Amino acid sequence: MLARLKSNFYLAMISLVGLMITVCVTPYGIYRLLSGNIVVGIADLVMVLVSICCVSFAWRTGNTKGPGLIMAMAFCVGAILVCINLGVDGVFWVYPFIVFIFFLVSPFKALLMLLLSLSVVVGVALVNPGQIFASTFQLVSFTVTCFVTSLFAYLFAYRTQTQREALKVLATTDSLTGAANRRTLDEALIAAINQHRKAGTEFGLMLLDLDYFKSINDNYGHKVGDGVLTELVPILKAMVRQRDTVFRFGGEEFVILLSDIKQADLHKLADKIRLGVNEHLSLPDGEKLTTSIGIAILQPTESWESWLHRADLALYQAKSQGRNQVVAASSETGT
Ligand code: GH3
Ligand code: MG
Ligand code: MG
Repeated sequence: MLARLKSNFYLAMISLVGLMITVCVTPYGIYRLLSGNIVVGIADLVMVLVSICCVSFAWRTGNTKGPGLIMAMAFCVGAILVCINLGVDGVFWVYPFIVFIFFLVSPFKALLMLLLSLSVVVGVALVNPGQIFASTFQLVSFTVTCFVTSLFAYLFAYRTQTQREALKVLATTDSLTGAANRRTLDEALIAAINQHRKAGTEFGLMLLDLDYFKSINDNYGHKVGDGVLTELVPILKAMVRQRDTVFRFGGEEFVILLSDIKQADLHKLADKIRLGVNEHLSLPDGEKLTTSIGIAILQPTESWESWLHRADLALYQAKSQGRNQVVAASSETGT
């Protein structure tokens, strides 16, 4: 449970907001019902109920988007009702709600929902002077403070979101080539094995290594070697389907993970890639590059280490048989 909260930021946020609402609003809801304010009592308890349902749905399905939006909408409607019914006693609740909403939906959606809710409260206050605020001064103060709080919460949430996205890119991609990195490969292989066991989806792996790459560095310099690696990735991506992923395994070795593929098609595609690389990848003097590829179809009950190891053995065989060729791994697995 703690591991899930740690690894899923949105689930952690939705759970925290749900917990806060349940702990803080439930006593108020009960108090309002007992003291005869049915509308506010029901609004409070509906917010609590919606939060509990949304959080449990998010935990069960892993989907946090829909529940976050429903909770945010319930809080907006609840905050409007509380303001209209309790007047100045209720408006203090708007401030924590402003912060909560930014934890539930995207910054832009949150700002839009808050501005709409603020307009409704201000509209009601203008149409019925004295119902919510005792003076125009209070109305203006409320409007300005709400607007400023929403705006700064938006700026903070937007900055956090862009930084989180940038960090994710840094943590998952290889900085030189833009291919997915080794860390994401391990996760993708585990996910593939789970999907194979659950749904029977077939997966294929290609382990690709440029031939005589060291001599490129030696003869043309490291920069040219880097350029070759950078050029190779778009060539590979262009030859596989959108759902297939290209990973940099290390140095001048790349892995391509393909789903819904059979041995014969995997072999055909690997050969097409080998020819494509030879056709499109060349050195500054026009010399064409060649590549060796080991391929392996995931076997039932096999571990990801064994799968990768079989592809590696096939690649080794392709190298020792003279390079510039595709070799299919033996289906005999280690584990
Ligand atoms: P083979 O045909 O057997 O694959 O020979 P090779 O020369 O390609 O293989 P080897 O593994 O001996 O050499 C790989 C070289 O790749 C060694 C290393 O200097 C170089 N290399 C690894 N990472 C990078 C990188 O990021 N940029 C550059 N320019 N070179 C790299
Ligand atoms: Mg090599
Ligand atoms: Mg190598």
